[in-house]
Amino acid sequence: MSLTPPLLNLNHVSFVVRSVSRSVKFYEEVLGFVSVKRPSSFKFHGAWLYNYGIGIHLLQCNSLENHISFQCSDIYLLKRKLEGMGIEYVTAVVEESGIEVDQFFFHDPDGYMVEICNCDNLPVIPLSSCPMKFPYMKDPMLSSLYGDKLEKLLTNL
Ligand SMILES: [Zn+2]
Repeated sequence: MSLTPPLLNLNHVSFVVRSVSRSVKFYEEVLGFVSVKRPSSFKFHGAWLYNYGIGIHLLQCNSLENHISFQCSDIYLLKRKLEGMGIEYVTAVVEESGIEVDQFFFHDPDGYMVEICNCDNLPVIPLSSCPMKFPYMKDPMLSSLYGDKLEKLLTNL
């Protein structure tokens, strides 16, 4: 099946951590990531951070694995591709304020976990007023999305 995967960008990397608060502090203070709102439907402890156009998801949970996650424009198409290639996957749905996100997970030949999602459905809402750097600052579409805030961000860089 010669199907071009409908992937858009790397959405996040996810690490299983021993202490969420300790790791949040590390990614905020050392690398300038900003804590953002995490869907309330998760049943395990964790935190979401964002900056530079990428998310870092921290998980404090025994049953999950470190993974990379790609934003996908057509999850159904990619599922069909995996099925055609005989690659097993598991699915999950995450929900926040009535917005649902589909995720599916599978492993590469070395056992590393890969996630495909439409996480960009969820707005990135900072938990503090720390400024974030978005990629492609001069993109007119981003300017229309972030308006005055973008100007402020640019002058703070
Ligand atoms: Zn993930």
